[in-house]
Amino acid sequence: MTVMKKYLFLMICSVCPLSAFAQWTPAQTEWYYPVPAKVIPGKTSGAAPSDAIVLFDGKDLSKWVSEKGEKPEWTVADGILSVNPGAGGIMTEEHFGDCQLHIEFRSPAPEKHVGQNRGNSGVFLMSRYEVQVLDADNNATYVNGMAGSIYKQAAPLADASTKNGEWQVYDIYWKAPVFGTGGKLESPAMITVVLNGILIQNNYILKGDTPYIGLPDYSAHGRLPLMLQDHGTPVSFRNIWIRNL
Ligand code: MG
Repeated sequence: MTVMKKYLFLMICSVCPLSAFAQWTPAQTEWYYPVPAKVIPGKTSGAAPSDAIVLFDGKDLSKWVSEKGEKPEWTVADGILSVNPGAGGIMTEEHFGDCQLHIEFRSPAPEKHVGQNRGNSGVFLMSRYEVQVLDADNNATYVNGMAGSIYKQAAPLADASTKNGEWQVYDIYWKAPVFGTGGKLESPAMITVVLNGILIQNNYILKGDTPYIGLPDYSAHGRLPLMLQDHGTPVSFRNIWIRNL
């Protein structure tokens, strides 16, 4: 049975009384193609599966460039990537659309920084839609700018952050916006975020980009790099991988 026939069958099912299908067999509502691609899970929780693109494996920044497209100047030591304050953000060389992203981060010692200046970085899907990275350990700020927020659009559904200095895990599921003729928005971006195993953004539909000042807006674009933010504090990252969807 082709996919089209199956949809037709299911549509008919929804409008006809059950008695009309008294003669049907179970096999008539089962299909075998197309077969989903085989993906081998990572050996441990959080490890990259077989079809992931590993963006940072603890060794180097070969998959990254600076915001200006030059050699990135962030620090790599002991398997950990850290923001080099003042060096600017870094972007992947490869461009992405719909994706699943795994990234682990750790806030630096708080020193005298508070609010948005404590452990601030950001995971920018398509270089323009920010999932906030912030030290949320005893650090009050506006809730639509706290860790796990879609910056200035959506507070997280729960505060799932852990203590300063502990490694934390983002698993992000991203549906890119689609633009049609003349750059018209056909479907907005949608995001699901799991922080430390806890669902904190559930199919949130973005209103646009995530500016510091002003309202979110969309402008047409295609696939774009993933970007990590330099907000002036040495936030650390490790085990970064992405799957194209
Ligand atoms: Mg940020």
